[in-house]
Amino acid sequence: MRTKHLQAVIFGPQGSGKGTQGSLLSERLNIPLIGAGDLFRAEMADKKSTLGQLVGQYVNQGLLVPDELVNAVMARHLKRMDLAHGFILDGYPRNVEQATTLDRILQINLAIHIKIDDEDVIRRLNGRWQCPECKSVYHETEAPPAKKGICSLCGEKLFRREDDKEEVIKQRLKAYHYMTAPLANYYRQRGVLLAINGAQPIHYVFEDIVKKISKLGFVT
Ligand SMILES: [Zn+2]
Repeated sequence: MRTKHLQAVIFGPQGSGKGTQGSLLSERLNIPLIGAGDLFRAEMADKKSTLGQLVGQYVNQGLLVPDELVNAVMARHLKRMDLAHGFILDGYPRNVEQATTLDRILQINLAIHIKIDDEDVIRRLNGRWQCPECKSVYHETEAPPAKKGICSLCGEKLFRREDDKEEVIKQRLKAYHYMTAPLANYYRQRGVLLAINGAQPIHYVFEDIVKKISKLGFVT
């Protein structure tokens, strides 16, 4: 069987571990992981970019960046990159409208959907504590520090990110289901959807992905 390069998007709710899986996969396959967030930060940091300044106006007010702008930033960066040996795109597209635009820029041959129930997301994120100093992340039940509330590595007092509070998580999940979940249908219809059970431990999720993409004929 001929193998092909992975030209993938990866998506799932926050707390699904999609970022971790994306970077593990990128290392294993030696292909770039393109984080939409990083491209946006780079664009906004570029003082000469009119596009970046426009985006900044929305971001600084905490507003959703319109699809037209999101698509323009992504197109600009993606067209400059050497993606001949494959890539994984994380954080874009976020909705069907963006996905149809992406299809005009790049050929996507796999959409990895990391699936996880809302209750599991809430349990994972709600119990999370972070170290302000070394950025280590702990979990009340799954990865507790040796001493409650104290970083095991550097001894700093741990804190809970605003994003990890239950009400905030619930709001974001609602937005996710409304905008991003229809992506699964879109990619299913195109025959490129790969659904993965994200409720398993990180290592199992990763092995699951590798096994399945290898079966599909991708270079692993
Ligand atoms: Zn620390």
